[in-house]
Amino acid sequence: MAKTLARTREAARNAAAKPGVARAAKVAAVAVAAAAAARGVQKAVKGPKYVYLFGRKTDGNGSMKALLGGKGANLAEMCRIGLPVPPGFTITTEVCTYYYANKRTYPPALRAQIEAGIASIEQQTGKKFGDLTNPLLVSVRSGARDSMPGMMDTILNLGLNERTVEALAAKTNNPRFAWDCYRRFVQMYGDVVLGVQKRADEDHEPFETVIHSLKHERYHDDVEDTKLSVDDLKELVARFKALVRERAGREFPDSPWDQLMGAVGAVFGSWMNDRAIVYRRKYNIPSEWGTAVNVQAMVYGNTGDRSGSGVAFTRNPANGAKEFYGEFLINAQGEDVVAGVRTPEPVAQLKEHMPKAYRELERIRQTLEKHFKDVQDFEFTIEDDVVYMLQTRNGKRTAMAALKFSMDMYKEKLIDWKTAVMRNPADQLEQLLAPVFDAKEVAAAQVIATGLPAGPGAASGRIYLNAERAVVAADKGEKVLLVRIETSPEDLRGMIAAEGILTARGGVSSHAALVARQMGKVCVAGAGALQIDYNARTVTVSGRTFTEGDWMSIDGTAGNVYAGQVKTAPSEIVAALINNDDAAKKTEKVRHFQQLMKWCSEASRMSVRTNADTPEQTVNAIAFGAVGIGLCRTEHMFFEGDRIDAMREMILADDEGTRKAALAKLLPYQREDFAGIFRALKGYPATIRFLDPPLHEFLPHTSQQQEELAAKIGVPASRIQQRVAQLHEFNPMLGFRGCRLGIGYPEISAMQARAVFEAAAQVQKEGIKVRPEIMIPLVGFKKELDLQIEVVHQVAREVQAEQKVKLNYLVGTMIEIPRGALTADEIAQSAEFFSFGTNDLTQTALGMSRDDSGSFLPQYEELEIVRKNPFATIDADGVGQLVAIAVTKGRKTRPDIKLGICGEHGGDPSSIHFFETVGLDYVSCSPFRVPVARLAAAQASLKLGVKH
Ligand code: PEP
Ligand code: MG
Repeated sequence: MAKTLARTREAARNAAAKPGVARAAKVAAVAVAAAAAARGVQKAVKGPKYVYLFGRKTDGNGSMKALLGGKGANLAEMCRIGLPVPPGFTITTEVCTYYYANKRTYPPALRAQIEAGIASIEQQTGKKFGDLTNPLLVSVRSGARDSMPGMMDTILNLGLNERTVEALAAKTNNPRFAWDCYRRFVQMYGDVVLGVQKRADEDHEPFETVIHSLKHERYHDDVEDTKLSVDDLKELVARFKALVRERAGREFPDSPWDQLMGAVGAVFGSWMNDRAIVYRRKYNIPSEWGTAVNVQAMVYGNTGDRSGSGVAFTRNPANGAKEFYGEFLINAQGEDVVAGVRTPEPVAQLKEHMPKAYRELERIRQTLEKHFKDVQDFEFTIEDDVVYMLQTRNGKRTAMAALKFSMDMYKEKLIDWKTAVMRNPADQLEQLLAPVFDAKEVAAAQVIATGLPAGPGAASGRIYLNAERAVVAADKGEKVLLVRIETSPEDLRGMIAAEGILTARGGVSSHAALVARQMGKVCVAGAGALQIDYNARTVTVSGRTFTEGDWMSIDGTAGNVYAGQVKTAPSEIVAALINNDDAAKKTEKVRHFQQLMKWCSEASRMSVRTNADTPEQTVNAIAFGAVGIGLCRTEHMFFEGDRIDAMREMILADDEGTRKAALAKLLPYQREDFAGIFRALKGYPATIRFLDPPLHEFLPHTSQQQEELAAKIGVPASRIQQRVAQLHEFNPMLGFRGCRLGIGYPEISAMQARAVFEAAAQVQKEGIKVRPEIMIPLVGFKKELDLQIEVVHQVAREVQAEQKVKLNYLVGTMIEIPRGALTADEIAQSAEFFSFGTNDLTQTALGMSRDDSGSFLPQYEELEIVRKNPFATIDADGVGQLVAIAVTKGRKTRPDIKLGICGEHGGDPSSIHFFETVGLDYVSCSPFRVPVARLAAAQASLKLGVKH
């Protein structure tokens, strides 16, 4: 029976999530009818419970957030631990589900339970709803499972009418207070329940307009809300009611019961308002959850100077300091603090104004933390010096605050080390490493465009529209921002020279984004509003034209682009670990960070490697705790110094002999690069991938560049043009690239293998352990891999004989096209390791270009066709299945096969969680994401209870 009920409720909930779908609604109606019938039977025994009391008798508790919403569950919990909470009751989220599945009606049993709830409040307060001597007023508030601040509706002072207001005035001997409550109630109820809201042709809220005109008539605008007289307030109520009559076409309801049921409906209704829908979409909150409604006895912060309302945090949520943090307003109700009509005072001021209430709040602050064992964000009201709690929840915090909270609470023995690890949001950790804008300067700066936050941090510089000029300017000591329509490997030197990179096109795994992250550069990608004119060397945006040399600033954490210069500073953690700054090393933040990272190593099963192409990147990644290189993209090495010329000679060669001669020029460079990397790794393994991109990416494309190259290497310019035309491809990403290059020109692979092994021999002779792992890209057929392995082994034999050394190396492959994943059992016969290239695997599995998907993916996210950008967060259902298949098949053939991931997803926390579920050995990501990956890997292990 219980199971049937649960299942039918589930069906109703699922269908209610899509109210526009007729078929689903029908299914829901049937399901709910069945559930109601089942409940009917049950009711004879006890009846379904829709209303949970809190106060002297409390039905719920803090663990019941799904049913009571976050607010309701925590109100119950606060009652249980003896905090002063005005009594009330919570109408469950199941009623919300029912409401949407049944044409916005309530279950029949609800009304009686609400009446019993009101009776319970009456009994505890000694007041009566609608009474003419001591009237009870209530608040009606929403409360979803996860907090959705400000997204849904709240009504205060419900229960007032022309008679009860007089009763309240007489009872409190405070007519001003009573009429202030009444005018607030009519205003809120008129807005929220009766829909009297600002029209498109109005500049202000209509109720505010009424207040302003009264203030204007009677005081020439020179009066504060708190100074309005009883007569003014009475007049406001009358004018508000007239406004309701005119706009809503009905009288303002007088009966407290009509008011209450209307308010409950409005709160449920607000679950589907635009704001709430947009918020849920952004934060991935399922619409089937629904909201609860909390009805609670009013306490009054507006009775005079011994009263007030406030919001506070048990510790500082911006910097983590253990200090009481918050603000309050004297003689005010809660919404005044949020609405910003008056400027609140810091909560510490209460010490002077109301010392007794302050002491009580301090006691509550301690109790909350001891009980909830986390920093709380709470709302309170002081009524005539007595403190009441209206809400508490875990406080939102910056990464810096999260780190300090977790370490301090561990030291205070409030939490254990594993909880401390879990308390640091992995997707926020990059904030701690990124250079920062000076807070005051950025507040004054103008946002001129927005793009994807592709490389976190803050950067300011003079804009340059091509790599060469960017390098020249940087060499002269200028701070440079490289601005491109999109970037390619050719831009690499400009990217290195720049403080930050800004592109008009490209997604989070575009070239600009991944290179920027790897180098720890700030990057905003795909800022579509930028009109970049390479010829005129201008960027036009927001009606302004910027010329090369003008200042711009970018925030790669938020994706904002600013006009002008905004000052920045490096983070302390980078200063300590990368720049070896001794003063920074001693700071608390750095010590805390190191402690967190140490715990991460203890907790995680997977290890973290890095994607690095240079010794410097390698050193940085190791300083952040990487234990090897998971991907060294060798093509980037061909863009430094004069190497590109030799590379171009190789591409332009007509025969094998000329090609080999050009490759011979490249060999010493590559060997030195690898030797540097092996030294930096100090014995950690290095996965080195052979050449991958289509060859045309290395050739010059403008006629001027082609002529310059022709002169330099002594071939006619027409020859270069011809070769560029020859290499042109319609779909280069699916063309002559990856292992296809090495199969077409085995001498390229042979040269790369020789460079790796000669470097390995050299460094090994220096006494440093070397563990090369050669990786063949874009393999779909076992035979492709076999052909390349043969070349590698042949060169290895030669070098070992020549150098008289024995080298330990592995040869493996990237799994980055679906055929490779599906035939992983065959491929594993030859491959000693797999590294999942999830950038290409996503591109090929989804049939979506990683470079062009920016034109439609935002809409796909908006429409929830995809929940998140699949190039940033692994598409677990699709691409993830291919990974899982390849893992199973690979291990079946070769149980000890080493499995890693080196696509951009290797630095994304939720993707890392997925990789833990399929049991990969390591993830690999750009150096500056290594700490994030370590934290995410630790959290995945802890969450999944993985033993290590
Ligand atoms: C990948 O495809 O995931 C990968 C790591 O290779 P690249 O990004 O260089 O294509
Ligand atoms: Mg790839």
